[in-house]
Amino acid sequence: MTGQTLQHWTALAARIRFPEAAFIGGEPVSAPVTFASVNPATGKVLAEVSACGTAEADRAVAAARAAFTDGRWSKRPGERKQALLRLAELIERDAGELALLDSLDMGKPVREAAAVDIPGSAAILRWYAEAIDKCYGQAVPTEPGNHAWVEALPLGVVAAVVPWNYPLEMAIWKLGPALAAGNTVVLKPAEQSPFSALRLAELAVEAGVPDGVLNVLPGLGEQAGRALGVHPDVDCVTFTGSTEVGKLFLGYAAESNAKQVWLEMGGKSPNLVFADADLEAAAAKACFGAFYNAGQVCSANTRLLVQRSAQEELLDRLSAHLDEYRPGDPLDPACGIGALVSAEHAERVRGYVELGKREARLVAGGNARDNFVAPTVFAGAHNDMRIAREEIFGPVLTVIPFDTEEEALAIAADSRYALAASVWTTDLARAHRVADALRVGTVSVNTVDVLTVQTPFGGFGESGFGRDLSLHALAKFTGQRTTWISY
Ligand code: NAD
Repeated sequence: MTGQTLQHWTALAARIRFPEAAFIGGEPVSAPVTFASVNPATGKVLAEVSACGTAEADRAVAAARAAFTDGRWSKRPGERKQALLRLAELIERDAGELALLDSLDMGKPVREAAAVDIPGSAAILRWYAEAIDKCYGQAVPTEPGNHAWVEALPLGVVAAVVPWNYPLEMAIWKLGPALAAGNTVVLKPAEQSPFSALRLAELAVEAGVPDGVLNVLPGLGEQAGRALGVHPDVDCVTFTGSTEVGKLFLGYAAESNAKQVWLEMGGKSPNLVFADADLEAAAAKACFGAFYNAGQVCSANTRLLVQRSAQEELLDRLSAHLDEYRPGDPLDPACGIGALVSAEHAERVRGYVELGKREARLVAGGNARDNFVAPTVFAGAHNDMRIAREEIFGPVLTVIPFDTEEEALAIAADSRYALAASVWTTDLARAHRVADALRVGTVSVNTVDVLTVQTPFGGFGESGFGRDLSLHALAKFTGQRTTWISY
């Protein structure tokens, strides 16, 4: 799928179909009201999509409940595995279409969606499908005349509420383990990016996933998202998004049925560069960590902490890489980064750029055209500035100098977020010492933001709790049952 031209993607875009209805109980269901899905790169309306509310949420949860209760999914591990493996194949078969839906929807380069997001989604789904017949319960040592075992039961109906920055991939991070564990799911894509989730539901039917096992509920957060959060028949909410909205789900659970809530939320990850580091490698990866996906990455390394003696050299080297992230047409394989997800979000990011110009020293970027914001670097910053404390979720890097290791660690820890951190040094002892001192979900040494399906992803503090990916995610969608038999 890599190596396609602008002409290829433009031609495909001209004939692509945008799924517009919700998907409930194995079929499309239109809501009486709609919302416009807009291409942020052009401002054009792509389609009017069902804006689901309480009525559609009730119907989707009922379909998921029925599909859970009769065991068509939860009690058939062999069929579950085959259906999810087939779904992974179908994602690969339709990779170009899915990549384009995500790109048109939220402005990311189609090149990256096709090379990274879509194949990555298929691989994650396949990994969880393969886990189905490899994870099983435990027999308990007992006295004679007793027999006991512990097994992991699916929770029931899981509501997955996801953001727009990796539309298909964020959905798969939730669906892979939740479905593999035997739950049924109602998926609520972000209103900015509903299409690949709706297309996925169609592919699931083609793959042999029984009706009602995967339902997709497009709509606005305060309506469709809230309706799932407060629903008395949802057993678990798994959420990725902002810290502000994540906290709302704790309230929704408290005011309804005390459902389990798993939250993956924001970040302001520090990237610590010591003077003894390979500064060229650190500069290249600092740009990747801050500007990839136009900085719309929860674990983006947006605070660059650099030892003062290396600051100017690092900034020079960093400047040489900025051109790789020049904004352009997301359908053009030569673009660096695409458009930000929406006019509203671009406005918010531009606001931070203007704030940064007042708070710190603008080193690069600082300009924008429509929803395209140039990679922007501010130096001479302090960790108490708003550009150092608040999640901007755009291509804005804040550079903060430090003198000692202790000072660097204190700045790194001084954040409400604790999702990820990176360390750059050639001193092995320092690498171990600093990595061990960083209390975040993922520490990367001499690289940034590494993740694989085998390793858990998530944070501490206001970055959330619970982990996506790995077998930890599979476990969180189950509850343990102990059975005792006396004979
Ligand atoms: P968001 O919180 O605005 O929306 C996330 C989801 O919640 C969407 O589906 C949205 O419709 C829904 N929602 C919004 N308001 C709601 C409400 N009042 N009630 C119920 N549901 C509601 O986040 P976003 O703007 O889509 O995504 C950006 C955020 O996501 C950033 O903060 C980013 O850090 C975070 N994120 C975190 C991770 C992670 O794994 N930690 C990954 C990606 C993105």
